Amino acid sequence: MRRLFVTARANPKLWAELFREQLPGHEILEEMPADGRSVAYVVVGRPRPGLIGSIPGLEVVLSLNAGVEHLLASGEVPAGIPIVRMVDDGLTEGMVDWVLAQTLAWHRNLFRYRDQQAEGRWAPLPEKLARERVVTVLGAGALGAPVASLLARFGFAVRVWSRSGSPIDGTTGYAGRDRLADAVAGADILVNLLPLTGDTADLIGQAVFDRLASGAFFINAARGGHVVDADLLAALDDGRLSGAALDVFREEPLPDGHAFWRHPKILVSPHVAAPTHPQTAVAAMVDNIRRHEAGQPMQHVVDRRRGY
Ligand code: NAP
Repeated sequence: MRRLFVTARANPKLWAELFREQLPGHEILEEMPADGRSVAYVVVGRPRPGLIGSIPGLEVVLSLNAGVEHLLASGEVPAGIPIVRMVDDGLTEGMVDWVLAQTLAWHRNLFRYRDQQAEGRWAPLPEKLARERVVTVLGAGALGAPVASLLARFGFAVRVWSRSGSPIDGTTGYAGRDRLADAVAGADILVNLLPLTGDTADLIGQAVFDRLASGAFFINAARGGHVVDADLLAALDDGRLSGAALDVFREEPLPDGHAFWRHPKILVSPHVAAPTHPQTAVAAMVDNIRRHEAGQPMQHVVDRRRGY
């Protein structure tokens, strides 16, 4: 009987229960066995250092997160063991909602009306149509692609930038580093949904902000390490950007006293854009376990060379 060890920090009992329901014939563990018995699968978020390397007989690491840069950076997962990142419908639905909410709030001037209300000021602003706004989405993967499609269906003029430039209906695709400047040129809204890798770290800085439309809005739902914080603050302070919705930060929780907390043009949320939902996430992981055991290729295995 194969064993699966769940290390979820939040609500481990629920995770274990769901695995027991959906994966009968497997032993579901909430603690590592002390007697050296083999454990084929481990489900991890941010595991304690040394944990993964110490598991005998490990076959697959199943990540609770879509972003796995911490697992790759730690060098914890031995080279031959596949890491499967989290891709599931619940996560995607959450991200689509969150980006849509930010996009529409800025597009329809809700942040500015909230400020005007605080001053008791009645002052209608010019209201544009969605089709008059250019939105550039960085990343066209499990999250970026559905976000881009939905924004296009809402009528926005959507551009999508990725490594390969895979086409997404109703949007204009841009492929590779050479096309980044074109992809962001004149954009009213910039949405970041890239994975954090050696190629994408610090990608969003002055050069990108300079090319956006004047007074653009920046939405970061991917990772804090993509953004040069000082460049973001400078762009907000001199009006190149009119606002930013930030869900992710270089250091989380965002440290007390960080300039983002009290900045009047920044909306801070505590890494909640797309939380992992146990019901849908377990179903996705069980599907991959079944594939693995049937000798079929698993889905969403991390390509360690690319870093995502
Ligand atoms: P994914 O499916 O791996 O997609 C990544 C996309 O980024 C792909 O389109 C890929 O291009 C593109 N890309 C990667 N490296 C690139 C480069 N150097 N230049 C241009 N494009 C590049 O990832 P995902 O599932 O959509 O997740 C994206 C990220 O969202 C995660 O890594 C995580 O950091 C973040 N996230 C945040 C939350 C939250 O709550 N805030 C929740 C979940 C995930 P190709 O299509 O050509 O491969």
